[in-house]
Amino acid sequence: MTTNHRIALIPGDGIGAEVVPTAQQVLDVLGRRHGFSLSYTSYDWSCERYLQEGAMMPADGIDQLRDKDAILLGAVGYPGVPDHVSLWGLLIPIRRSFRQYVNLRPIRVFEGIDSPVRGARPGAVDMVVVRENAEGEYSEIGGRLNQGTSEELAVQESVFTRAGVTRIADYAFSLAARRRGKLTSATKSNGIIHTMPFWDELIAERAAEHPGVTWDQEHIDALAAKFVLAPARFDVVVASNLFGDILSDLAAAVAGSIGIAPAANLNPERDFPSMFEPVHGSAPDIAGQGIANPLGAIWSAAMMLDHLGHPAAARDITDAIASVLAKTDTRTPDLGGTATTAEFTDKLIELL
Ligand code: ATP
Ligand code: MG
Repeated sequence: MTTNHRIALIPGDGIGAEVVPTAQQVLDVLGRRHGFSLSYTSYDWSCERYLQEGAMMPADGIDQLRDKDAILLGAVGYPGVPDHVSLWGLLIPIRRSFRQYVNLRPIRVFEGIDSPVRGARPGAVDMVVVRENAEGEYSEIGGRLNQGTSEELAVQESVFTRAGVTRIADYAFSLAARRRGKLTSATKSNGIIHTMPFWDELIAERAAEHPGVTWDQEHIDALAAKFVLAPARFDVVVASNLFGDILSDLAAAVAGSIGIAPAANLNPERDFPSMFEPVHGSAPDIAGQGIANPLGAIWSAAMMLDHLGHPAAARDITDAIASVLAKTDTRTPDLGGTATTAEFTDKLIELL
């Protein structure tokens, strides 16, 4: 009997709705080859829906996703709709309800891609940023006092828990052990004197449980500089919510185009679905033209297959991405070419 996976598709807004179907095309090819099937349920949850109905998703939205094996999301965002609406109306409820506390962002500089960074030789950069996705600097605790007076002030609390840091550290060390065995922890314990020393202590504590991994820690400022000056030296980088957010966008830029970068919001315990989404947004400036780079969505779909227990199928996809970039001139405009999303996807499927 072939395994069937129930996939929730949330294409979202703008180019999200253009790249998700391409990822689906690729997934179906792999299912046939590797002997599994995927059944899809599509949801129109988006900023467009928000503009018509006043909510990104229905009140029972989370319940509708609960029994799915994974969620594939395109992008949400619409000119005139503030970013916090899509973030707090859709993405954060999904991440929190389904305990997706790992945000995984792999970065590779592929052959055939021009990185804006001189030191980023194609083939040499291959790293993963493991971002803590549930606590840290992104908290709702805080407020503003004395508004409108000369004593006005704003306070925002960061919350780091022993359980939260331990589980992200364990995830990152285990991932490093399966890769090149090297982990770097992002810190700032010279300036942030309560939470960051706690983070450092817990990382060191977990390091003792993973003796096969060599690790070090770097202050976030120095680390950002090294991402630009020597990106090839990194394997797995573990970082808090805010630091990981910044580092993964920086690393995606080093890799040559935001259109390629994938992300996974993982629930490692697998008691709830995980969510996979390209790093890029809805790109209103190019939406509707059929020229979006589909690789970010396709690579995200590969991460989904890996999570669903099909690592060989996932590798087929990343190999095909590497081939289409190294061996052909077919490229979407963001990579300097003239191909449409459909032409680029067809070429990739041909190489599969
Ligand atoms: P949002 O509000 O949804 O985050 P945004 O415009 O702020 O949208 P992105 O959508 O990531 O952010 O777009 C940033 C820039 O990168 C835009 O110029 C966009 O056209 C370009 N871009 C993003 N994704 C792609 C892609 N897949 N292919 C080609 N260009 C892209
Ligand atoms: Mg944006």
